[in-house]
Amino acid sequence: MSQPNGGTFDIVILGAGSGGYAAALRAAELNLSVALIDKAELGGTCLHRGCIPTKALLHAAEIADQTRESEQFGVKADLVGIDMAGVNAYKDGVVARLYKGLQGLLKQEKITLVQGAGKLVAKDTVEVDGQRYTGRNVILATGSYSRTIPGLEIDGKRVIASEHALKLDRVPSSAIVLGGGVIGVEFASVWKSFGADVTIIEALPRLVAAEDEEISKTVERAFRKRKINFKVGKPFEKVEHTENGVRATIAGGETVEAEVLLVAVGRGPTTANLGYEEQGVTLDRGFVITNERLHTGVGNIYAVGDIVPGLQLAHRGFQQGIFVAEEIAGLKPAPIDEAGIPRVTYSDPEVASVGLTETKAKEQYGADKVSTYNYNLGGNGKSQILKTAGFVKLVRLNDGPVLGVHMVGARMGELVGEAQLIYNWEAFPEEVAQLVHAHPTQNEALGEAFLALSGKPLHAHS
Ligand SMILES: Cc1cc2nc3c(=O)[nH]c(=O)nc-3n(C[C@H](O)[C@H](O)[C@H](O)COP(=O)(O)OP(=O)(O)OC[C@H]3O[C@@H](n4cnc5c(N)ncnc54)[C@H](O)[C@@H]3O)c2cc1C
Repeated sequence: MSQPNGGTFDIVILGAGSGGYAAALRAAELNLSVALIDKAELGGTCLHRGCIPTKALLHAAEIADQTRESEQFGVKADLVGIDMAGVNAYKDGVVARLYKGLQGLLKQEKITLVQGAGKLVAKDTVEVDGQRYTGRNVILATGSYSRTIPGLEIDGKRVIASEHALKLDRVPSSAIVLGGGVIGVEFASVWKSFGADVTIIEALPRLVAAEDEEISKTVERAFRKRKINFKVGKPFEKVEHTENGVRATIAGGETVEAEVLLVAVGRGPTTANLGYEEQGVTLDRGFVITNERLHTGVGNIYAVGDIVPGLQLAHRGFQQGIFVAEEIAGLKPAPIDEAGIPRVTYSDPEVASVGLTETKAKEQYGADKVSTYNYNLGGNGKSQILKTAGFVKLVRLNDGPVLGVHMVGARMGELVGEAQLIYNWEAFPEEVAQLVHAHPTQNEALGEAFLALSGKPLHAHS
């Protein structure tokens, strides 16, 4: 690809991850000219080092578990082992196909792709290798990086971040996962399925602490059953290198040894030394502050994706990118409701949710105004066929709409599409209860939960 030599565009976008490229595609559809700048690969974290490769690993992990457990279904099979070269070839093949497809899309829309590190040098200009790209509008979309904690150095070998974990050429015999949030829990799940001895260390009192408390309890129960060790409510203190790996010390002096330690304590915004503050953009702990229309308050500068405080999820980045492109084109899109963004943790068991947790709903509306219902997957035919446990929990405003849907169990991520429609359309449980769900599907569990919440339970044990 020949590199352009600067120029003037309707929009200059710095960062071609989920947020940046979605903005570029939507803007091009709206006949706006776009320069999309990235120092690495088009597609950003999600495609190359995040969502897609991790989910490929989780799928391979599921196959390993199914092979191990096949006898429960009357199928005789032996798990001979995990061939990490084969797993990585499969994972990289998925990424490569999607990457090629994405490159084709950008080309089709005649978006000018600029390869190189950019810096905001004026309110309307990004400079890359001495070339200036001026935009009537600028979108900042520089994403995030794996954070660590003070004194804990990521060396990429024994103390690793998710990007290193995705490139391991072997299954570690044992692993410490520092952080029991989404990324930590997903890697713990994969490594356990691949045969590693795993311990999660989490300072907060529970795993997946952003989720409803009952969901955390079920994940913890399932992890105990899977023999994934976890120590919650105990801050990490230090790590030392040992002959064959690392030794982590947690509050109270307890130590855990393993071959590797994965640091999964969250992601920080990539905003340092990019000229943002010099141009007057407000940063708070590195995050770019915007109004609800994602405008920074400076010139025609907008920001999208992980650099904007809130859920760090690819589909939030996509939606914000589309929003800003439409805003620039004068379409006046409706602001995005952060609570309406679905959240999935793809571990075994899976966790999927949208809207408010029970605690948040009660805080917001008052405890007497909110009711909940838990539908146990024990009553759901398809879940029994899959031999999975878990539940669907509904949170509603009394005589009002659904405020939250929380689900845990195998394949629950696939149900979040319906759940987010219900939440975002502010459906009443009685309205959802009228809709027919195919039998036997796991979707029926949602249908049954709504039947029960509307006072007409079918396959629901009280
Ligand atoms: C292990 C892992 C698993 C994940 N799994 C999921 C998941 O299952 N589902 C989900 O929704 N989300 C997931 N995420 C989160 C998701 O990847 C991010 O929310 C998403 O990538 C954010 O998009 P973004 O556009 O804000 O930033 P990014 O995707 O990080 O893109 C930012 C881009 O900006 C570029 N850039 C930065 N600085 C400069 C510069 N100075 N000049 C030029 N280019 C620059 C970078 O090279 C990068 O390509 C996961 C993340 C990780 C790490």
